[in-house]
Parts: sequence; structure tokens; C-alpha cells
Amino acid sequence: MKLLMHTCCAPCSVYCIDELRSEEIEPTVYWFNPNIHPYMEYKSRRDCLKEYTKSINVNAIFEEDYGLKEFCKNTINNLETRCQEYCYPVRLEQTAKFAKENGYDTITTTLLVSPYQKHDIIHELGDKIAKQYDLQFLYRDFRVGFREGQAKAREIGLYMQKYCGCIFSEESRYLNYNLAKPKLPEGFEFLPVNHSINIRKEKDNKEQYLELLLEADPSKEMINKYLADGELFVLTYKDEPVCIAVVMKIDNDIVELKNIITKEKHRGNGYAKKMIKYLVDNYKTRYKKMIVGTTENNIPFYVKQGFDKYEKTIKNFFIDNYDEELWDGDMQCVDMYYYSKDLNKAK
Ligand code: SF4
Repeated sequence: MKLLMHTCCAPCSVYCIDELRSEEIEPTVYWFNPNIHPYMEYKSRRDCLKEYTKSINVNAIFEEDYGLKEFCKNTINNLETRCQEYCYPVRLEQTAKFAKENGYDTITTTLLVSPYQKHDIIHELGDKIAKQYDLQFLYRDFRVGFREGQAKAREIGLYMQKYCGCIFSEESRYLNYNLAKPKLPEGFEFLPVNHSINIRKEKDNKEQYLELLLEADPSKEMINKYLADGELFVLTYKDEPVCIAVVMKIDNDIVELKNIITKEKHRGNGYAKKMIKYLVDNYKTRYKKMIVGTTENNIPFYVKQGFDKYEKTIKNFFIDNYDEELWDGDMQCVDMYYYSKDLNKAK
């Protein structure tokens, strides 16, 4: 079998490649994802896949096409059905076309690993499009390994995206809704909520967390300014501290979330979200507003946690207050953006 595997990103490819290799099938990875938005996100996903495929020595082909306009033109009148009517077919069609022109006899897609995608429709489309090109569609319900693949991806430090990919799925990061309900194959279920998570206020020896706090704010001087007077909270998972936050009183109505950080290997599990919820519950009876200052990259995260009121921008904050240039992924941190959450409205 000569298999061309449409691949949406590195984390989704992890389980698919491992699984195929365990069956002694060697896929060629095929990157074609024209509507990932914005371009920097497209680039991060593509570059991560380049690195990953190189590191595991799998053949990979990168079809460069950043097609935002084409995607918008074709989906704007029917946003609800954009996945099955445009996004999936365009990817599968291009994969089949390339496969046919380049001597592959079988195609598949990593979209089959995600419990958030419309699995049965992808299967159906895959069969149909492969047939049109006189190819086979290799179907596997990769969803059974979704969690395993994501955990491995996190462990080896792959870039983990926070939304499906297109501009409309990116919008849902800011709004508190998610239309896609995860669906696993029959007989499989998501693990129950873990109850070994605790949050406590640490009064003594707050400096023991300095090293972790420095990952979010790399200036000891800055941290020392708020650590002494601020309140420090520790979220533990199975007794291991995994997420730390520091909150400081600004005046009788306002508190500021000065620092929040999750240990790298535990990121992506929702610990920061849990911590923020705890802090809001803790402060809402005594204060009216919680503010947070953030880099541009992290605005969507805070807006989603309810910090949806823009307060102010401090121009050049990260240049004027830090000795070295700060980078968040591909983006240099320059201005500090302040957002707030109305604690009176917090449920
Ligand atoms: S939500 Fe995902 S699958 Fe649907 S159109 Fe957007 S990128 Fe494609």
C-alpha cells in the first residue's frame, strides 16, 4: 500500500502515525490546510509538523496554500455547514488529486482522530472522493487514541492549537460557546472528572514557587514587587503543585491577577481555568472587579474566562521594564493590555 495521509497538524498526527506504523503501514504525511487563520497560526502548525515529521523520520509533503479569501467566499452564506460542505471536501479532494498524480494508491486523513469533527461525514466523503480518483480510502476510527496522542504531543512539547482552525472557529475562543460536541466511538468514554485536584492559599515561604512564577514573568524584580503583599494560591494535582497564581489588592474595589502559571507538562488540562474560577469565587464577595495585564497572545484566553472589558494599554511595557526582549511564540511582547472581569456579575 502506498498511503498519502492528509494531515491537519502535528498533535493529531501523533496517534495516527504510531497506529499505522504499528500495523507496518508507512504513511506519507500531506499538509494541505488552506483556511487556518490567522497566518501566524497557519505557520505555527505547519512548522511544528515539519519539525515533528523530521524528528520521527516520516516522509512529509507540504502543499503551500493560504486560502482565507477563497474559504470566506465559499462559506459565508452557509456557515453552519462549512465543515462538511467546504472544509473536509477541499482537503480530501486535493489529497486525492495529489495522490493520483504521484503514484499513491490509498489516502486517509488525521481528521479521523478528532472527537470534535463530524467523523461519519469524513468517512463517507473519504470513501466517495477516493473512489472518484480510483483510489482506496483507508478508514480507521483513530478517535480511540485521541487522548493518548494529545498527551504524547504535550509531553514532547509540540505546538498545541486552541481552536479547530478557521476564522469562525477562532471566534468561538472569544465567545463562551462551542458548537462541536466531542463524540467517541461506541464503548469508549471520556475519563470522569478527576477529584484529586485541590486549591489552597499559601501563606508562608511563597518564594519556593519563584522558579515557576518566573516562567510567566521573567523578572525577579517585578515578581518581588507583588509577591510580598500579594496572595499566592497553589493548585495541586495528586498533591503535586501544578498551577500557581498571585493576586494583589489594588484598592478597596479592585484586585489584580498578577501572575498565573501552569507547569509545562500539565498545560492544556484546564488547570489555569479552574484556578481563575476559584479566585473569582474567592474574591467576588469582597471586591467589585478583577483586572489582569497580559500580552497580546493571551488576550483570547482571558476574554474567554470572562475578562471581557478592555481597560487600557500600557505602550512598550515589556520593552521599558525588562532587560531582555520577551517573546511569546513568534510574537515579541511589546505592549501590556489590561482587561477586567466584573465580579458582581460572576456566577
Ligand atoms: S471549524 Fe474546523 S473543520 Fe470546520 S470549517 Fe473551520 S477549520 Fe474546517
